[in-house]
Amino acid sequence: MKKVVKFGGSSLASASQIKKVADIIHADPSRQYVVPSAPGKRFSDDVKVTDMLYQAYDAAAKGEEFEPKMKRIRDRYQEIIDGLGLDLSLEQEFAVIEDYFRRQAGRDYAASRGEYLNGIVIAKHLGYRFIDAAEVICFDEKGFFDSEKTHELLRERLKNVECAVIPGFYGAMPDGSVKTFSRGGSDVTGAIVARAVRADIYENWTDVSGVMITDPRIVPDAKPIDTLTYQELRELSYMGASVMHEDAIFPVRKGGIPINIRNTNAPEDPGTMIVESTCRQPKYIITGIAGKKGFCSVNIEKDMMNTQIGFGRKVLQVFEENGISFEHTPSGIDTFSVLVHQSEFVDKEQSVIAGLHQAVQPDTIDLEGDLALIAIVGRGMKAKKGTAGLLFSALAHRRVNIKMIDQGSSELNIIIGVRNDDFETAIRAIYDAFVTSQD
Ligand code: ASP
Repeated sequence: MKKVVKFGGSSLASASQIKKVADIIHADPSRQYVVPSAPGKRFSDDVKVTDMLYQAYDAAAKGEEFEPKMKRIRDRYQEIIDGLGLDLSLEQEFAVIEDYFRRQAGRDYAASRGEYLNGIVIAKHLGYRFIDAAEVICFDEKGFFDSEKTHELLRERLKNVECAVIPGFYGAMPDGSVKTFSRGGSDVTGAIVARAVRADIYENWTDVSGVMITDPRIVPDAKPIDTLTYQELRELSYMGASVMHEDAIFPVRKGGIPINIRNTNAPEDPGTMIVESTCRQPKYIITGIAGKKGFCSVNIEKDMMNTQIGFGRKVLQVFEENGISFEHTPSGIDTFSVLVHQSEFVDKEQSVIAGLHQAVQPDTIDLEGDLALIAIVGRGMKAKKGTAGLLFSALAHRRVNIKMIDQGSSELNIIIGVRNDDFETAIRAIYDAFVTSQD
């Protein structure tokens, strides 16, 4: 058994958190490869080290005094080192970093130092080998992640290394300059390492006991999901559930490796397993509920629309020409609506309206903003009778008007559109109908 374990920033924000992490790692000898984030927030108003580094670098890049900002970062690491009682000095490292800042080594370099330094500290505390991600995670000349080159290099490098710490979030371009993934990218590094060492499992440790059925800010006692498929995760993430970095799925999926989301502060909780496929039936008909506000519906009406071949294509082409992607296209006999992100659309609405008049000469065009989309997702819905009935009666009971309905042909999701103002009420109603009242 071989595991790759990634720990997020809140799991590594202080010496006491790092001690918990070390206990978790030492409790299971198969936890051989560790991918740390930079120290995150210790309390809600705290600042993540990554953000402190960006701020310090931005000051340096403007030629302003950045040393006091660096001192605060140094103090955070020193507090951790002292709290762990380590015989380690980062003075030399900080001297190099400050020198690179003065020479304007770039924001990616700056941000990456959070993980780099944390990797050194954690490797020392665990007694594991430190491997600089810049040596094993490769980006191409254009700055895109080079998956196959990285895979080969990492496999070769880790072949004979039993236990190692590889910092998350960054790698290097062919010329050696540091490049980061987008924010939250340590999840991606963890997945890449898991694939390279052919891990049996990729454990992603965070500060919640798995993926919740719905957003706990809306349903505070939302329960965790025990098993989730990659496809369900994709649907939920797309609709706004924040679980992990989207790009983290691809490497583990390629390697057929399950992901286990776990809680550093409650390591006894089993968390959520994310798998390619499972014959385990979910406890409830639905696996999860997610949604987003801020959509606009462009409603087009034209008599005898149903007889016009190519109508839909011409409409969508107008959106394409304006660089707007569409989410859904509900239609009637003489009506065709296009749902778009309001923020992407507002600046271009008049140009879209003019384009539609030219392209399809509609009778009317009506814009309806401030809509929310909610997806209920679940492999358990397939061929299950009454799912839509339960959904609609739950919403009717709470007096939520449904503006749009869309069920994917895979029967993995049903998406509904409601007013922004009804968003939270609708999610609570769905949760109660499918989860609370089924217990
Ligand atoms: N430290 C980086 C961030 O704050 C990357 C990560 O934590 O995954 O985004």
